[in-house]
Amino acid sequence: MARIELKVPFAEKDEAKRLGARWDSGRKVWYVPDGIDASAFSRWLPREPDITVRSGSYFIAQTTKICWRCSKSTSVFGFILPAGHESLEYDNEDEEPDTWYRHEEPTIVHYVDNLLPAIAARIKALTPHYRIDFSKTTKSSYWMNHCEHCGMKQGDFEMYCDPGGTFYPMDEDDASLILLHKFAEPFGCTGSRMYGDFPFEYMRGARL
Ligand SMILES: [Zn+2]
Repeated sequence: MARIELKVPFAEKDEAKRLGARWDSGRKVWYVPDGIDASAFSRWLPREPDITVRSGSYFIAQTTKICWRCSKSTSVFGFILPAGHESLEYDNEDEEPDTWYRHEEPTIVHYVDNLLPAIAARIKALTPHYRIDFSKTTKSSYWMNHCEHCGMKQGDFEMYCDPGGTFYPMDEDDASLILLHKFAEPFGCTGSRMYGDFPFEYMRGARL
């Protein structure tokens, strides 16, 4: 029997450990050891469909950055969703069912996980360097860019969370460096979303 793997948020790792979960340091995943009742871990069991962001269409964003390791310019990729995309909002207070909330502005997605297979195939056709990897910063795995020259991880924090970062355009010049590939097909993943006064209209290929 395959072992049961858990999706434990970093903040809850101590509780998972206390209940008997074990950490596989090789695969960077918590799991339920043989002989332990898995029902105590139900909140961390993978759910179907395990996505919290969805959209009827999406853009793969492409630009370049300087690798922090080898100082060469490398292509990097990410996802932008048009207005009308939805996120699953948790309502723990009164135990109402989770509801999908519609957003009326575009968003930049990062810390992507649980990417639908069709989308994973699309981005793999553009680059072999965007793939699941483990981040020491977030202590979790997500779809991450890697330098096309030296293979080093190019983590999301610097690119998406610092104003002026590769995927955090502050003005039209920043935005014009980003090329958008549009896909008129469903998008789904888990991930963080960023909203703000981004100059989306200056991205090349933009029709958001
Ligand atoms: Zn490099």
